[in-house]
Amino acid sequence: MTTSTPLHECPVASLRGVGPALAERLQRLGIVSVQDLLFTLPRHYEDRTQRTPLGGLIPGMTALVEAEVALADIVQGRRRALLVRLRDGTGGLTLRFYHFRQAQKDSFSKGLRLRVFGEVRSGPAGPEMIHPEVEWLTDALSATDERLNDHLTPIYPLVEGLTQRRLRELIQRALPLLNDHSLIDKLPSHASLADALRTVHAPSPDSDRQALRDGLHPAQQRLVFEELVAHQMGLLQRRDRQRHTAAPALICDDDLSGQLRQALPFALTAAQQRVIGEIHHDLGQRRAMLRLVQGDVGSGKTVVAALAACPALAAGLQVAIMAPTEILAEQHLARFRSWFEPLGISVGWLSGKQTAKAHTASLAALATGDCQLVIGTHALFQASVQFARLGLVIIDEQHRFGVAQRLMLAEKGLSAGWLPHQLIMTATPIPRTLAMSAYGDLDTSIIDALPPGRQGIQTVVLANTRRDTLIERIRHHAGGGQQVYWVCTLIEQSEQIQAQAAEAAMSELSEALPELRVGLVHGQLKAADKAEVMARFVAGEIQVLVATTVIEVGVDVPNATLMVIENPERLGLSQLHQLRGRVGRGQLASFCVLLYQTPVSALGRARLQTLRDSQDGFVIAEKDLELRGPGEVLGTRQTGDVQFRLADLVRDAELLEPARTTAESLHGNPTYHYLLRRWLSHEGQYALA
Ligand code: ADP
Ligand code: MG
Repeated sequence: MTTSTPLHECPVASLRGVGPALAERLQRLGIVSVQDLLFTLPRHYEDRTQRTPLGGLIPGMTALVEAEVALADIVQGRRRALLVRLRDGTGGLTLRFYHFRQAQKDSFSKGLRLRVFGEVRSGPAGPEMIHPEVEWLTDALSATDERLNDHLTPIYPLVEGLTQRRLRELIQRALPLLNDHSLIDKLPSHASLADALRTVHAPSPDSDRQALRDGLHPAQQRLVFEELVAHQMGLLQRRDRQRHTAAPALICDDDLSGQLRQALPFALTAAQQRVIGEIHHDLGQRRAMLRLVQGDVGSGKTVVAALAACPALAAGLQVAIMAPTEILAEQHLARFRSWFEPLGISVGWLSGKQTAKAHTASLAALATGDCQLVIGTHALFQASVQFARLGLVIIDEQHRFGVAQRLMLAEKGLSAGWLPHQLIMTATPIPRTLAMSAYGDLDTSIIDALPPGRQGIQTVVLANTRRDTLIERIRHHAGGGQQVYWVCTLIEQSEQIQAQAAEAAMSELSEALPELRVGLVHGQLKAADKAEVMARFVAGEIQVLVATTVIEVGVDVPNATLMVIENPERLGLSQLHQLRGRVGRGQLASFCVLLYQTPVSALGRARLQTLRDSQDGFVIAEKDLELRGPGEVLGTRQTGDVQFRLADLVRDAELLEPARTTAESLHGNPTYHYLLRRWLSHEGQYALA
């Protein structure tokens, strides 16, 4: 390695202290070159530049202190703990350790001086810190080692097998290489990239600390912009690849669409017709469609999907429809059967929960082409699934899937020598900034109107203490022939615990409402049992359906007009909006009761009020993005696809448009491909493949 070697070609192993074992560990993290190391960026900073006297400690603050050990003792409280008492003349501080060894106690002998960093909380005997970072300041240490940091301490994202300290040391060792080795820096910008890296990894003492902590320092923003440009370039590349892939052009003046339209009990809205037109236009091209349809809950996406399928079916190609939950998939199955079987199209079913025999039969029908339209869950993209001639993939409620899964399903069409057309539907309205990042590679259609005659949903925020009133309300409501959802939410991801809560609510309601038939669905039930309960609810035999959030997406029973959501404060706004969308689907007035647990925080109440005051999914999603960040709005899987090292879609929203514009002007140009290699992780590059 000479000084002319650019940083992306300098192996990390060339750094002092990086032996073969460490180099291999780094490689597994995707860190091969010194550039990779330098682009491992801190997302937070800690201030260890100043000592706080013990007398100045306030609970809640994170502080660095230096003081003398007065006493160390093991106490038997509710939990055995090692307590170390410090003193500095201005006050006292207790360090509390629950995990410790005897040798550790001995290391805190009276009179030793410590430097301690941690969060202060109020303990029984004044301020304390639990498991702080401790450094011993002994005479043996040289004066320089005792010097305080003069800059903020960067905190790196946790990487497997490396401590913060180790990573920090490595990066500090890599920084001087910026002086001699070149770093490709071709983006038009006022600030130098090397300077930006120096600043974020080792901010100088006089740099603006507040800006750094907020992520708004010009050095950080310089990097954020580059990251956003790289990300957008990645999306554009993916879009281009799609556009250059051959797909069967499907002629759309087919009979099938016309027949289906005629059979529908309603006329399509103008918004639905426009979107169907856009889809049919795409399908007629010789390249694969990649279109996202956004439409608020209840806007009528299912029938749009059905009409999208027609040209493919008419051309003798297969269509696969994937839904994220069993319940939703079954509902689609029933609906598509009723639409298509009278028209002579065979509709199949594929789920992980069907019997082995049925599963094998479904697989065979797909492979031979006997099954023309298949509805299924995640089971559809498993390796064992083969299609004879897959022409169109439709993914409902896309936010529940990841990009990788969508691509896996699409690739199943490759056996026929083309990429199938892809239609992606989502009911979560996505704020524009987010849509540009998560779906920047897709063409978008929006169903921006609801079918006529909808009454709207009146939403009420009610304290749990008024359960009795609510139960009377349900008695009255269901007595009049309409149906009710009672939704139990829990923070725990465990379906089992959710199921228990739902069972408890079920017994409470059955007891309080003996004259009504109450049913129960949750994720722990067998598929057949779940299907039976849902079928009875659809048929109106069950009047009150107690459910977990398994019914969140897609379920459509227009006669259900009252929904109670227990503990709504536990869910995000977008998720609540989705849930609430299960009512208000017919011509009858609908109600949603948000039954919160008292006491509720001011913020919690404000969130529920947003929901009470708006039924516009876009408004709610914007608010959600503001309050809880992109993960909430997109769903966890999807966020995996838009993970940034430094950028924050809320904070940096304003950089997104310019980044997109820049990316558009650069993306065909190989000179700028270094940006993709620099910023996109290996998985990211895979997802772009
Ligand atoms: P979502 O967009 O939430 O998936 P669905 O496709 O489930 O909505 O449709 C919601 C309800 O509206 C269904 O009962 C459906 O039959 C009905 N619907 C759809 N389109 C129309 C229309 N143009 N006129 C009247 N009702 C419609
Ligand atoms: Mg739907």
